[in-house]
Amino acid sequence: MLILGLESSCDETAAALVTGDRQVLAHRLLGQEAAHAPYGGVVPEIAARAHVEALEPLVAAALSDAGVTLNDVDAVAATAGPGLIGGVMVGLVTGKALAHAAGKPLVAVNHLEGHALSPRLSDPDLDFPYLLLLVSGGHCQLLLVEGVARYRRLATTIDDAAGEAFDKTAKILGLGFPGGPAVERAAREGDPRAVPLPRPLLRSPEPHFSFAGLKAAVARAANDHAAVDLAASFQAAVVDCLLDRTRRALDRAGPVTALVVAGGVAANGAIRAALQALAAEHDLRFVAPPLWLCTDNAAMIAWAGAERFAAGLTDPLDVPARPRWPLDPHAEAVRGAGV
Ligand code: ATP
Ligand code: MG
Ligand code: FE
Repeated sequence: MLILGLESSCDETAAALVTGDRQVLAHRLLGQEAAHAPYGGVVPEIAARAHVEALEPLVAAALSDAGVTLNDVDAVAATAGPGLIGGVMVGLVTGKALAHAAGKPLVAVNHLEGHALSPRLSDPDLDFPYLLLLVSGGHCQLLLVEGVARYRRLATTIDDAAGEAFDKTAKILGLGFPGGPAVERAAREGDPRAVPLPRPLLRSPEPHFSFAGLKAAVARAANDHAAVDLAASFQAAVVDCLLDRTRRALDRAGPVTALVVAGGVAANGAIRAALQALAAEHDLRFVAPPLWLCTDNAAMIAWAGAERFAAGLTDPLDVPARPRWPLDPHAEAVRGAGV
């Protein structure tokens, strides 16, 4: 089985070819950091235009890298949401056109399902059910992954996402954009005990997250401390929150095969190390995808497409692009927070 995957929900344009037995035959990616950097964040209109220019050549390059043509593909998988709607539409419409032209089925992939199943692409031994900490630019959730298309959300953030907190902290500290890797680099030079920062919701009974208060505290302390000390103290606070909330979720998740982390923030070394120790504490396997598979890419979309295709889940060509799209449709919105 061979799947072409397309990703364009935020500021990465990407195309990849992945087989049903986990071979990544090609993955091409074009980031747009330079285009958005002057604004300190992703500008939706700029992103959508950049996807239009980048996607077709990336698809051609990926097919050529893999030494295949569209005819060799079994299905076309494209991100159909959630994300910046202009960008999502570019990728989804391109996917529909390619599928229609080649007479292949379309798989409309939830970007979060791409992140959620990505650890199964890098680790063939990862079986359902697993507890997933999904930490990305727009999301911070604990999910019980029971199977393909079977997700139970145990917790979400009541305000900011984890990646958003990293990006805003980087902006406050003048460390540049995108913020996550910059904060992690600065934190290595700083003292994590230098600045006392709050740990919102620590030890609260429900395993939900909150980062807005932490971000505000960083802003208040910004003039009185070195950026490296603030970065280190901020990162230590995030690690404490993620760990405490994940521990709480493990207590109520029931039996799981592994503790898994995915999404862009899962690229953070301190977070990975802390979760690994937590898993060991619980005699659980710890699984984290390689760094390139944590941040946005099309291999995870192709792989989620492969898993859905194998389960018989394909979509009609009029499937809509969705700016919001919860993985767990039954999860209640928490105090109006995004899903
Ligand atoms: P979503 O997946 O929720 O729609 P997104 O696709 O924009 O959002 P991802 O690409 O999955 O998000 O992740 C990007 C986020 O990951 C950014 O907020 C970025 O700062 C953060 N990030 C990337 N690398 C690191 C790192 N090393 N440490 C902390 N955060 C990181
Ligand atoms: Mg990005
Ligand atoms: Fe993402």
